[in-house]
Amino acid sequence: MAYSARFQCIAGCPGSYALDEVIYKCPQCGQLLEVRHDVAALEGRSAAGWMKLFDDRYKRTQWPYGSGVWGKKEWIAPHVRDENVVSMDEGGTNLMWLERYGRSLGLDDVWLKLCGNSHTGSFKDLGMTVLVSVVKQMIADGKPIRAIACASTGDTSAALAAYCAAAGIRSVVLLPRGKVTTAQLVQPLASGSIVCELETDFDGCMKLVQQLSAEPGVYLANSMNSLRLEGQKTISVEIVQQFDWQVPDWVFIPGGNLGNVAALGAGFELMLKLGLIQKRPRICVAQAEAANPLYRAYKAGFDKFEPIVASPTEASAIRIGDPVSVHRAIRVLEAYDGVVEQASERELAEASAAADRTGAYTCPHTGVALAALEKLTARGEVKKHDRVVVISTASGLKFTDFKVRYHEDAIAGGPSVHANRPVTLPADYEAVKRTVLGVLDA
Ligand SMILES: *Cc1c(COP(=O)(O)O)cnc(C)c1O
Ligand SMILES: [Zn+2]
Repeated sequence: MAYSARFQCIAGCPGSYALDEVIYKCPQCGQLLEVRHDVAALEGRSAAGWMKLFDDRYKRTQWPYGSGVWGKKEWIAPHVRDENVVSMDEGGTNLMWLERYGRSLGLDDVWLKLCGNSHTGSFKDLGMTVLVSVVKQMIADGKPIRAIACASTGDTSAALAAYCAAAGIRSVVLLPRGKVTTAQLVQPLASGSIVCELETDFDGCMKLVQQLSAEPGVYLANSMNSLRLEGQKTISVEIVQQFDWQVPDWVFIPGGNLGNVAALGAGFELMLKLGLIQKRPRICVAQAEAANPLYRAYKAGFDKFEPIVASPTEASAIRIGDPVSVHRAIRVLEAYDGVVEQASERELAEASAAADRTGAYTCPHTGVALAALEKLTARGEVKKHDRVVVISTASGLKFTDFKVRYHEDAIAGGPSVHANRPVTLPADYEAVKRTVLGVLDA
């Protein structure tokens, strides 16, 4: 069976474009393009057949189908030949029951989808494997591509740099100076990327990389390029698969450029079309109060969207004032009985710390999503027996400085409820005993 997919305008202009064409926007109206699959071909296999195929491949060794993304290749990028796949065994991440944290909110069934437990420490790997594989094939087929470039808040650049290094393709990353963590800055340096730190914010880097990618041979890797969303779409498929093909009641997801929520919705839509699932979950997009343009638009009934200048936030990967995928995201929220919630710096830090105290180790963006869950639960919108999945977008280990600041009481808006500091002692048993038993007996 020949599966195929092509780019089409999200606003519905006629015409379609091959996935190996260098094209990011609709030439007629300037809107984004999305990847449309030949659904009739996909319908040639039954829902049960797809589920069995995906289950048979899941985390197995037949390369590259053990990858959480490439195990679903027919739904993602069917034209990529196996020899061009650039995979780091992405996806297949753990879905962790947050038993004690959920119970602390009065909820029985809260789960954390740990998308950050991936090679470069964030969900960005899921999309980047697709984009870099497509480019590798374009180069193999003689397209004159010299480098792949992106603007980033720190995680896209880490993923691009690593996948390009694995493929032997040059990469260029534009980062807002001083606005990514040390770990995130070092990642592309280690991978040999051309790293430019610019005196601007993410939105400023985004404008410049679009100009750069107009140069001959420079391919654009930002999520305006829909290839990445195809890989990220596996998040929803994988969650449902991990629940033995049951749909959760809620998905909470932190949103910045809003590509990931668009991808999440696209994954559920394809499962619905092909009959793997029969219902939609509700979706809540969570934003930092400091970077909340979608929240503002939601409050105004999505009548219109106004970009803002985003302020500093611990959730630095979602410090975006002019999200590229805003229209796709609104479309998903409208179809999924969606909610947008926001979290202050204090709220995101406390939610993150509260989850950490029950065994998670959450990044600040996951903290934003958890804070949103706490608010919707307090309002009675999320109910005791609802099955809730919170998308954890990055590894907490990339955000050590945030954790340190929290435990040193250095986050704005009051003392840290769960602050925990090391006790410095002489190497003396009496002193150790006094300290430990003093705490245990208190
Ligand atoms: C990129 C990113 C996000 C936001 O995803 P969008 O698709 O831009 O909405 C959230 N959290 C982390 C850790 C990220 O790297
Ligand atoms: Zn168009």
